[in-house]
Amino acid sequence: MENIAIIGSGCAGWTAALYTARADLKPVLLTGEHPGGLLTSTSIVENYPGFPEGVDGTELMMAMQKQAERFGAQTRYGVTVTKVDFGKPPFKLWLHDEVVEAKAVIIATGASHRRLGLKNEELLERKGVTYCATCDGALPMFRGKPLVVVGGGDSACEEATYLTHFASKVYLVHRRDQLRASRIMADRALANPKIEPVWDTVVSDVYDITKDAVTGVQLKNLKTSATSELPCAGVFVAIGHVPSTKLFKGQIEMDADGYILCRKGTYTNVPGVFAAGDCVDRVYRQAITAAGTGCAAAIDAERFLAAQHG
Ligand code: NAP
Repeated sequence: MENIAIIGSGCAGWTAALYTARADLKPVLLTGEHPGGLLTSTSIVENYPGFPEGVDGTELMMAMQKQAERFGAQTRYGVTVTKVDFGKPPFKLWLHDEVVEAKAVIIATGASHRRLGLKNEELLERKGVTYCATCDGALPMFRGKPLVVVGGGDSACEEATYLTHFASKVYLVHRRDQLRASRIMADRALANPKIEPVWDTVVSDVYDITKDAVTGVQLKNLKTSATSELPCAGVFVAIGHVPSTKLFKGQIEMDADGYILCRKGTYTNVPGVFAAGDCVDRVYRQAITAAGTGCAAAIDAERFLAAQHG
């Protein structure tokens, strides 16, 4: 029987592991199939405090793991939780055939970038298709070239504006004729002479897999159904995020989009089950905010266990 099982190995998970380990609770952290979370898919992280020159995303996650393990966190590397039972304590987590039982659980499964769902989008990921302008926008392959940003929300406007520092031109492709973004972000993007909105339009294909690099996109106007081609060196997909919470459906309360609903601090509706990071947060979604809520979940779980078990 474990005191605390932590599901997920991003900033929230490792920070929860660090704090619960330092509380001598010997947490077990189940990393999932792709340890390290979203930060491992970025290059240099420049906005994590304490690193004036920036830090490689994967290195930051490895340092967090090392720090948590130094205080006694137990890492189950590469394991995926396939089923959970939060009906009553001890909580049960299935790792295929094996069952882990724990007095408390911290869910830190994060979120993934919503994808367009195109085959070539997947094949050209990191070869011009990206989901994070702040991570990849400054790469040499995008400098001085026309770029496409997909989406109409704050992220798309922010990314398009940011990319104008590097691109020759930024096409903001949105499926409607009105942006969803907040007024200030939308106005800023639309006033930028380097940004050209392409309304009522979706990206229907990405080229060119034979060149193993993005050379352009196929656009489809949703009002006329007309298709056209637009040369570009990069496609920045900014159409929102999907919380990684399918596993918990029917076990804990979530909103319609699958974000876990927390009540007081990091408490879910199941006493003893806590949640932190991007699987809860649809607004901030930063490494530092995920780490912060991971810390909060650890403190909440520690107090819960102390109240239950002394
Ligand atoms: P969002 O607000 O959910 O916007 C997603 C955009 O993508 C929408 O315009 C949506 O179109 C479009 N979209 C969704 N699925 C699509 C698909 N399959 N194909 C094409 N387009 C699709 O997501 P977000 O922009 O990432 O923002 C998320 C939250 O973070 C918001 O609360 C936002 O305010 C916040 N945020 C804040 C800041 C900031 O304040 N600095 C920066 C970034 C994000 P429709 O409009 O037609 O639905």
